[in-house]
Amino acid sequence: MNKTKIEKIFSIWQKENPTPKTELNFTNNFTLLVAVVLSAQSTDVGVNKATKKLFEIADTPEKMLKLGEKNLKKYISTIGLFNGKAANIIKLSQRLVDEFNSEVPEDFAALKSLPGVGQKTANVVLNCAFGHPTIAVDTHVFRVANRIGFADETTPEKVEIALLKNIPKKWQKHAHHWLILHGRYVCKARKPECGECVVREFCEFENKTRAGLGL
Ligand code: SF4
Repeated sequence: MNKTKIEKIFSIWQKENPTPKTELNFTNNFTLLVAVVLSAQSTDVGVNKATKKLFEIADTPEKMLKLGEKNLKKYISTIGLFNGKAANIIKLSQRLVDEFNSEVPEDFAALKSLPGVGQKTANVVLNCAFGHPTIAVDTHVFRVANRIGFADETTPEKVEIALLKNIPKKWQKHAHHWLILHGRYVCKARKPECGECVVREFCEFENKTRAGLGL
C-alpha cells in the first residue's frame, strides 16, 4: 500500500477517535498486566466481568500472593484456560516482588521473561502502561492489517515487523488500538461491514465490495 493511502486511513481513524484506549478495565500497571494475561484467547468483556471483584482485593503483586492461586481461580473461573492463567499470575507476582521491587518493568525483555507473558502481552503493556509505540498483533490486528493492505504476511511476528516498517512513526503509538477496534466492530472476521467502513475507499481487500453487500 502506498504512503498516501496509509496516511489517509490513519487520519480518518484519528479524527474519529483521537486517543483510542484498551477496552480492558484496570487500575494500575499491575492490574493492566494481569488483565492482559487473562485476555489471551478470551474476550475483554469476559475478562472485565471477572476482574471487577478481583481487582478490588488484589491490585498489587503482594495482595495477589496473599490471595493465593486457589482463591484466585474462584474469581477467574469463567475465563478460558483459567487454571494455567492463575498459576502464571501467581508466579509473575512473585517475580515482580522478588526481582522488580513490585513494579511492572518498562522493558520488553524483562516483561517477556515473566510467566504467561509473550510477545503480544509485552507489547500491549509497553503501549498501554508506558506509551511506547509498540504494535501488538492479536487476531484482529492480524486480520485487518492483511485485509487493508498494511501487510501481506502469514504469522503475527511477520505482521508486526511489516506494520512497524510500513506505518509512519507518528501513527504507531495508537495503531494497535485503532486496528483492534476496527477489527472488533467493523472489519469483523466472518462478515466485514464494508458498507459502513470509513476507510473503505482506501482499503485494498479484494473482496470488500462483495463483503459490503453481504454476498
Ligand atoms: S472495506 Fe471492508 S475489508 Fe476493508 S477495512 Fe473496511 S470493513 Fe475491512
